[in-house]
Amino acid sequence: MDWDRYRHCTLCPRHCGADRLAGRTGFCGETAACRIASIGPHFGEEPCFSGSRGSGTVFFSGCSCGCFFCQNHQISHEHLGDEYTPERLFEALLELVGKGVHNLNFVTPDHFQPHVLEVCRRLRGAGVEIPFLYNCSGYMERERVPVMAEMMDIFLPDFKFADPLLAQRCLGDPRYPELAVAAIAEMISCVGLLKPWDETGERPARRGVLVRHLVLPGEVENSLRVLETLHHRFGPELPLSVMSQYRPTPRCANRGEFARTLHADEYRRVCDRVEELGFYRVFIQPEFGDENFLPDFARDQPFAGNPGS
Ligand code: SF4
Repeated sequence: MDWDRYRHCTLCPRHCGADRLAGRTGFCGETAACRIASIGPHFGEEPCFSGSRGSGTVFFSGCSCGCFFCQNHQISHEHLGDEYTPERLFEALLELVGKGVHNLNFVTPDHFQPHVLEVCRRLRGAGVEIPFLYNCSGYMERERVPVMAEMMDIFLPDFKFADPLLAQRCLGDPRYPELAVAAIAEMISCVGLLKPWDETGERPARRGVLVRHLVLPGEVENSLRVLETLHHRFGPELPLSVMSQYRPTPRCANRGEFARTLHADEYRRVCDRVEELGFYRVFIQPEFGDENFLPDFARDQPFAGNPGS
């Protein structure tokens, strides 16, 4: 167990140095008591992760990234969630595995890395064999990647901003582009690119990296730069998920174009560039106006599209 990592916390690039074991908080707003907003099967991830029985998602409260437009603002900014001791988390994840999910998907886990590593070790010790998935913002120091790769089979990082000024405006750190590219390179060196998956969804992905990018309203130039940066650094074989599901949240009021949804022609321009650059392992989201993508963590089932919601 590596709980000491919480003592003078440098788990993310903010390096706040907060003594979270003493109940203090840094930028992420969380102490060393692990808090979670939702645990359950989720069918809204890319088909290679959701498959037919769902991805076993764990949504942690708080976030070290803290983008003002966060689509999960109820948990990242408002800190909705319950405290989970290591034992409670282990039992909850064993129960989730028992439901037949294809993987365990740790969402925004950076500020709770010691808890994630600990529960993954215990689950492997208990005979759990399904892949573990690190679903993160990309705002991560390269050195932390091999530590997490000891337990992770799949990395699912965002690459949100190639424009340092936009990164500064959205999350307050212009280093995001260089940090994220370095972290993604390290992820690929640890687990490779996402291996081909069975399109029927019966045998979802088991290992590798897939990069996500959410297209932001009024910020197409950033998205084009994201694609060009990824192409230049990793080539067209990099698996990508280019998302159109942006919805303005209450914090986006008075934030210019962030207060509206994405226009179809903006998304089309980005998809055209994906094609021009020759990326060929790409998920796109053709639909607009699907509210199922915006979760409500105040409900038992945060995602309206999930069975039982
Ligand atoms: S994980 Fe939280 S406390 Fe630790 S350095 Fe990052 S923002 Fe600060």
